[in-house]
Amino acid sequence: MTRPYQELLSRARSILEKESKKANVNRLELPEPGVLWVGNKTIFRNYAEFPKLLRRDPNRLLMYMAKELATAASLDGERAIFIGRKDKESFSQLIQRYMKDGVICPVCGSPDTHLEKVKRLLFMVCEACGARSVSKVV
Ligand SMILES: [Zn+2]
Repeated sequence: MTRPYQELLSRARSILEKESKKANVNRLELPEPGVLWVGNKTIFRNYAEFPKLLRRDPNRLLMYMAKELATAASLDGERAIFIGRKDKESFSQLIQRYMKDGVICPVCGSPDTHLEKVKRLLFMVCEACGARSVSKVV
């Protein structure tokens, strides 16, 4: 008697699993920024993980964040050091914005893109759908 119900349940479950896998293709799981304050400096402890996941130049991302936060920043191995006290949320938001403007393909939403410089324009080339879009971040 319980059989059809069980079957239905397992079918529903497998559909749900498929759906969530589909959604994950377009999402990058980013770690939480690890932030430490020392004097008037902010140490972003796991900084190196972010450009690695986004497949972008660590210096380029750092320059972007420093500019947006209107401060100076430098790389220190895996860490990045910012002048002034910055909180974790500002880093998260900046990274999200950077992804939206220069990593995620605007056509299909895939994060698998790389940059190509053509003359003075920077293009974002999508490896999933092949679309070429002008990158909003430099
Ligand atoms: Zn695409």
